[in-house]
Amino acid sequence: MARVLVVGAGLTGGACAALLRGATRERLCVWDKARGAGGRMSTSRSARDAACTADLGAQYVSRRAESRGSFYEELLSHGILEPLSARIEGLVEKEGSCDYVAPQGISSVVKYYLRQSGADVFYERHVTHISLRDGKWEVSSKMGSPELFDVVILTMPVPQILQLQGDIINIINERQKQQLESASYSSRYALGLFYEVGARIDVPWAAKYITDNPCIRFISIDNKKRNVESPEIGPSVVVHTTVTFGIEHLDSDPAEVQELILSHLENLVPSLPKAASVKCQKWRYSQVTKAVPNCSGQMILHSQPLLICGGDGFTCSNFDGCIESAMSLAETVRSHL
Ligand SMILES: Cc1cc2nc3c(=O)[nH]c(=O)nc-3n(C[C@H](O)[C@H](O)[C@H](O)COP(=O)(O)OP(=O)(O)OC[C@H]3O[C@@H](n4cnc5c(N)ncnc54)[C@H](O)[C@@H]3O)c2cc1C
Repeated sequence: MARVLVVGAGLTGGACAALLRGATRERLCVWDKARGAGGRMSTSRSARDAACTADLGAQYVSRRAESRGSFYEELLSHGILEPLSARIEGLVEKEGSCDYVAPQGISSVVKYYLRQSGADVFYERHVTHISLRDGKWEVSSKMGSPELFDVVILTMPVPQILQLQGDIINIINERQKQQLESASYSSRYALGLFYEVGARIDVPWAAKYITDNPCIRFISIDNKKRNVESPEIGPSVVVHTTVTFGIEHLDSDPAEVQELILSHLENLVPSLPKAASVKCQKWRYSQVTKAVPNCSGQMILHSQPLLICGGDGFTCSNFDGCIESAMSLAETVRSHL
């Protein structure tokens, strides 16, 4: 039975694994370096109350006229997505477009696909080396022994593919390397603020885009944005910085960055109570500003055995972009098995 490894339990990896389910008799594994599923569609929990959560990466899923409707219908029918009904100040509404939120947190979208895939999912598996051994891929991670796979699918941000060691370095040809190196991403910080039960946040919006602050671009009362207001769970707030701030502070001390963001937040929303806990997340590779050119959602790095890469770096940074890449990856893998 062929063994297939998907590296990355983000939306592209999760959806690709789900699309591969039952396609053949292969045994499917998903490895991620993080402690949980979601990637940039991450939902963080308060250190003091696991029920208090916040979406630190992607905020909503936007369906456009040209989107593949069946994916949205499936998530809506399972209650994973719901229409965005809260007031978002400054959200640009596109004609024929519809925005959805995930009431259980945006990572629930990825978790849904991972469940559908039936794959064996392993966290804290940080892949470091990929090399050829006896016609298979030997994949090494920081924890655990190296394992052999017949097919490897990489779904991490493109610069992280280029950081991998082993035979993969020589397998990526000069032209592919140039293509991969030309992809670029924005960088930004996200802050999650978690409050005690009963804390009151008195603002007339659920989220707001800020256009005149050097540090903060977006503030969301995250539970309100997700249509979840419960007397038993404390509210949560998410702040995204501007890209300029993100780049400027990319290698700064995280504690200092957190204080800086908090001081700007206090000026912008003076009525905010003090949070019970705060999480600062650096998104070094936040959203794709230039995708890998001349590829259709994926790139084959080696054919026999198959080593292939995809993700939003090969399309664009949204739900549709990840699904397009996942479909293209799954189709290519099936045709090789
Ligand atoms: C701040 C922010 C706001 C956003 N807002 C929106 C939005 O509102 N709507 C929207 O649709 N999109 C939004 N996006 C974009 C969206 O989140 C991404 O396009 C999408 O999540 C990318 O999914 P992916 O699976 O391709 O990559 P990722 O989510 O990055 O998944 C890759 C996975 O690979 C893992 N990984 C990396 N290297 C290794 C390794 N060596 N070994 C093992 N695992 C590894 C990572 O831990 C990660 O889980 C936003 C992104 C950010 C950061």
